[in-house]
Amino acid sequence: MQKITRVRLLAAAAFVGCATLAYTQAPPTAAKLETIKLADNLYVIHNDFVPGNTTVLITNEGVLLVDDKYEIDGPNVVAEVKKLTSQPIKYVVNTHHHSDHSGSNALIQKLGAQVVTSEAARRRMVEGKQPGQSNVTFEQKGHIYLGGQTVDLYYFGRAHTDGDIVAHFPAQRVLAMGDSYANDPGTPELVDFPGGGSAIEWPKTLTKSLALDFDRAVPGHGTVVPKAEVAKFRDSTQRLSKRVHDMMVVKRSKAEIEKVVRSEFGFQDFHVEMSLDGLMKELK
Ligand SMILES: [Zn+2]
Repeated sequence: MQKITRVRLLAAAAFVGCATLAYTQAPPTAAKLETIKLADNLYVIHNDFVPGNTTVLITNEGVLLVDDKYEIDGPNVVAEVKKLTSQPIKYVVNTHHHSDHSGSNALIQKLGAQVVTSEAARRRMVEGKQPGQSNVTFEQKGHIYLGGQTVDLYYFGRAHTDGDIVAHFPAQRVLAMGDSYANDPGTPELVDFPGGGSAIEWPKTLTKSLALDFDRAVPGHGTVVPKAEVAKFRDSTQRLSKRVHDMMVVKRSKAEIEKVVRSEFGFQDFHVEMSLDGLMKELK
């Protein structure tokens, strides 16, 4: 219980940071990290702190990461990679600009890595004056070839922000989805409206991700799951939009809508505070 409360508070803190386009202040302590093996050369570094995920691809020409946690977690992320391989980190892909996904960029760039994001996410990084802005961007689709491995990157449209991308590992049949898909108990669907997110576009974006060929999804927050769970999440984002829209049409009050999103969609205080006004505005 205590853990869940802490997680919610921290997720709220992370979101407040991005909502104001400011680079989020570091959490007080580094997270405890745990590395999970997905395939021979593919790992996920999971943390208990706003339970987030860093995907690690190891090749004989270097390492690629997807997301790198808060700045305070950077040294431990690097240490965790060193336990797996002596290869240097060559690329960090950020699924979006939020600092719980891109906070260690500057540190890892100093070690010689290139940071890759969507062009839209880089614009958010520049607006927010974030350290560790991306070196390489793409608009719709990008590919990284490293040590005989391929990572395909896709921008499918707005979801959690307007810059979310997914990273597909075709050989391992894994999709790292950032916060366009999260299954942490405190994260049913969190639209960062100031960061360009959209409740209407989110399910459409997920449908495009679901058209990719993969078996397992690495969420931005939460546990690695089979693809079918992503389809369920997409369906719930559609239901949420329809439910809020239907209530707006019959002029239900904000309090009534709040009650429904809490009881039917697992909204917590920070979801209500951060995205209820935006949802009502977008879905009226
Ligand atoms: Zn985020």
